Amino acid sequence: MRGLICCILILAASIESTFAANYPFRLEQNKNGNVVTLIAVNDGPAPVHYSAWIERWSNVQSSRPWPLNQVAPPYSRTQAAVLYPLNAYQGWSFQYRSQFRTGNPGASHNPGAVYRLPYPDGLKFRITQAPGQNTTTHTDIGSFHAVDINMPEGTPVLAARSGVIIDTENRYGTGAKNTYFADKANYINVLHDDGTWADYAHLKQNGVAVYVGQRVKAGQIIGFSGSSGYSSGPHLHFVVQKNNGQQVISLPFRFYTKFGGPFSPVAGQSLLADYSMPNVPVQQAAQTYRFIQPQANTEATEGKSNSLAGQIGKMAHPVVTIGLVVMVSMGIVLAILAIREGLNRRKWQSQKNHRDGC
Ligand SMILES: [Zn+2]
Repeated sequence: MRGLICCILILAASIESTFAANYPFRLEQNKNGNVVTLIAVNDGPAPVHYSAWIERWSNVQSSRPWPLNQVAPPYSRTQAAVLYPLNAYQGWSFQYRSQFRTGNPGASHNPGAVYRLPYPDGLKFRITQAPGQNTTTHTDIGSFHAVDINMPEGTPVLAARSGVIIDTENRYGTGAKNTYFADKANYINVLHDDGTWADYAHLKQNGVAVYVGQRVKAGQIIGFSGSSGYSSGPHLHFVVQKNNGQQVISLPFRFYTKFGGPFSPVAGQSLLADYSMPNVPVQQAAQTYRFIQPQANTEATEGKSNSLAGQIGKMAHPVVTIGLVVMVSMGIVLAILAIREGLNRRKWQSQKNHRDGC
């Protein structure tokens, strides 16, 4: 009499992280006869780490050990667990709780990753707060490595690194340095290929120019700055973050500019955005800057050579150096030939004169 035995009670209470309050993730329960399958439904563009643990159960068998700790890939439906009665001839019940957070705890920040300044070429703005330097508001683990960049309201905000838009907030019209506004900032989150994401916060109302799921390139306009949320004035809050499994943490990152880098941002720096190097991808440009830096140091320590080749070598690329040395050598040879030619002529003229005079 299998029909008499199913007294099933499954209650799910999801605890959502503040970061992903509106993120489209859920644990779905599909009942088929005496079996319940839990499906992790991720309808969004970010990986989701979810946990579920037992509150109460009776006469239950699970296909997976609990608590569950799994990652659901973007835009996926994956089986979380299959539940069924231990004794098919008795009633069974099950109650669990779950929570989720966007981001894969297994992700790690690419050590070679560099970030362009998040505003357009030709604009120069000052960093007013940076990691470890008299920070006033970046005091928790999620913001410790953040920077604040002073900029007028309405300044275009550019993606500092390529990625996919995974979350945005657009609706808040104002802000102040008051805890009431702590959760009322407009923002954009861009997920990078290494699983970390960047948070661009305090945007103006309706200042989001992208949509969730959109792929953006470094240097692309994604929104407009403002002063929404917990903010004392117009600025951009920029931070790189990841999910470490327990919470969202901030990560150290490095900017680069046309004039140097990669470098860690410092409070008080005024930085001019200029990436006017046509046809040079961002990553390649950054590598170029890294290449230039040791060259400069080498010059400083090896600047004692007084030879011509040494002087030229310090100024130019090796190929150019070889070219210059060849040209100089050819010039010397031609000069010697010209002098010899002149002497021969003089000698011949002297002989001729002598002959004529004779
Ligand atoms: Zn900030």
